[in-house]
Amino acid sequence: MKIYSEGEKSKGPCRPCKKLVTTTFKVSSVPLSSGRGHVDKILVATCDHCEHIVSIPQQSAPRIKETLSNQKHSIEVRIPIHLLDILVLAADRFNAGSTDTLVRYYIALVETDKELNKSVKRLSGSDFAKGSSYRLSLKVSDAIHARFVRLMGQTKLSKTQLLKGLILQINEDILQKPKKKRINDLERVMLASA
Ligand SMILES: [Zn+2]
Repeated sequence: MKIYSEGEKSKGPCRPCKKLVTTTFKVSSVPLSSGRGHVDKILVATCDHCEHIVSIPQQSAPRIKETLSNQKHSIEVRIPIHLLDILVLAADRFNAGSTDTLVRYYIALVETDKELNKSVKRLSGSDFAKGSSYRLSLKVSDAIHARFVRLMGQTKLSKTQLLKGLILQINEDILQKPKKKRINDLERVMLASA
């Protein structure tokens, strides 16, 4: 792979100019095609006539990927205070990691497990899930957010119901009837994300 540096010249087809133009590599912030956010300060080849970005060198690809995978969504719901306590208590069982990591892990887990899927659905409708005194804001990546939305579709639960069900499943698996295998798996995940 050729590595370009700032100020270097090249050539490329410019769309606005409708011809092959000389380009200069410059540091620029590039808006994402989704329209949300931009990649901060990457090297791009710009047209010497109109400044249009003609191409993005391969060397900039990892930083674009990084920006895309770090895009944050927040899932906001109201839950009863004892569900927050469950999350904090469960996360506290591990030496590292956070309540957010725990929920993210469960979103991924439940999506691929039919039994868990059913269990979360059942728990979300229980009396223990009732209440709304605490506003929980969960930061998740694009990928996890997409999974959460898919899971809402799978379970036909609302955002709030689903999150309550996930937290009550965490209660079952970690606080009430600890499952050794799940805790071992989680131990690794929590450590990796700390
Ligand atoms: Zn141009």
